Amino acid sequence: MNEDAAAKLKDLPRVDEVLAEPALAYHSGRLPAETVLRAARSALASMRDDILEGKITDISPERAAFLALKELRKAEERSLRRVINGTGVILHTNLGRARLSDSAAAAMSNAASGYSNLEFDLEEGRRGSRHDHIGRLIGEITGAEDAMAVNNNAAATLLALSAVCFRTEVLVSRGELIEIGGSFRIPDIMRVSGASLKEVGTTNKTHLYDYERHINEGTGAILKVHTSNYRITGFTEDVSVKALAELAHKNGLPLIYDLGSGLMVDLKDCGLDEPTVPRALKDGADLVLFSGDKLLGGPQAGIIAGRKCFIDAMKEHPLARVMRPGKAVLAALEETFRQYRDPVQAKRNIPVLQMISASPDDIRYKAQRFALRLAQENPLVCDFSVIRGTGMIGGGAAPMLGIDTWAVAASPREISPEEMASRLRRWKDPVICGVQDGLLLLDMRTVADSELQTLAEAVAGVLR
Ligand SMILES: *Cc1c(COP(=O)(O)O)cnc(C)c1O
Repeated sequence: MNEDAAAKLKDLPRVDEVLAEPALAYHSGRLPAETVLRAARSALASMRDDILEGKITDISPERAAFLALKELRKAEERSLRRVINGTGVILHTNLGRARLSDSAAAAMSNAASGYSNLEFDLEEGRRGSRHDHIGRLIGEITGAEDAMAVNNNAAATLLALSAVCFRTEVLVSRGELIEIGGSFRIPDIMRVSGASLKEVGTTNKTHLYDYERHINEGTGAILKVHTSNYRITGFTEDVSVKALAELAHKNGLPLIYDLGSGLMVDLKDCGLDEPTVPRALKDGADLVLFSGDKLLGGPQAGIIAGRKCFIDAMKEHPLARVMRPGKAVLAALEETFRQYRDPVQAKRNIPVLQMISASPDDIRYKAQRFALRLAQENPLVCDFSVIRGTGMIGGGAAPMLGIDTWAVAASPREISPEEMASRLRRWKDPVICGVQDGLLLLDMRTVADSELQTLAEAVAGVLR
């Protein structure tokens, strides 16, 4: 340590000097004294570190108070915050996947803020089951005999394998041994469930006879997994749900289908060629498993729909208790499924479907109007234009499908676009967006009309 640093360390203000600074003293009255004291101490500690690293010159009490205030402000912010998604990725797993419809969010809040008949039968006045709230409704919409929900689709897969396939062999095509999101791997889930994996076929081609050949008295089920987050192209072949169901049933086995995305309505006119839940059931799958917060557009959940005998076995399995969803999630799920009673209404009201089916022209118009507004509100500091972009469904659905979209492109004059993106991320209402070819891009497909005001304030705020 040089002499200068040693002198600085000695001259660091005392804690009570920092606390006496007017800016900080003002907060002392408003916050617990302990909290303010901790912030002041931590500010001094970080100044000490900076001195030792030779990084600091200003050791005034004002600076210490400034650092302490910054810390206090950060401590007051919630950790889990709402953000604006300017990325154009509709089901962004890191940003919480599906945005709920207003009515599903309201149902969630209503169930959470009061008591509910979560496990109470109002007709009979006795204990009921939390599964009853959605079983019949999901059956009505998908054509399943019964259904239940758990915390996510990974849990649904584990529960189905544990309850239906324990100590049996489960046939899975080599081309479907997927990993999703870095932690969900079919072979791992299989091992934990107590079922044993029997790989059949090859990576690119699996035929019906590959399954047939491996069926024996130890076989418990055939599992089909939707390869939602990748595609093998070229010379490929897999076996249809229909053919697999026939084979399974001929041998007295169930066909379990991990569908992942949970699409409920046909979206082919939006270029989305994903299997739907009703189709999978109609084609003969005995259990269909899917996420609540992917293409269904609901809360995080895993839904299991299919034959009542298997669903009953799952409800009684000890893991069902471990994985049961809470009342707020069930309320949001019920409301989301209710909207599918009218598919036209579902496409209109469920944000995920809305965003997928929004026409490029409408998005372009929205981008143009917003770019104009931003240009008017931020003269001389930034240029705004509108450019064509490619959005994505995300969340491991339709990986090859780029969606035509439009973005507001910002080119700040005094800071770099990267710096602007970083400031937007750290703004009080954080905005997440990308930078491409020297332009900051705000994709308008994933920004709701109701968020435009907040977004405009964020842009003006970071450019100021
Ligand atoms: C997304 C996905 C999962 C995992 O679902 P979570 O709800 O994220 O647990 C499992 N299987 C498939 C095929 C998926 O697409």
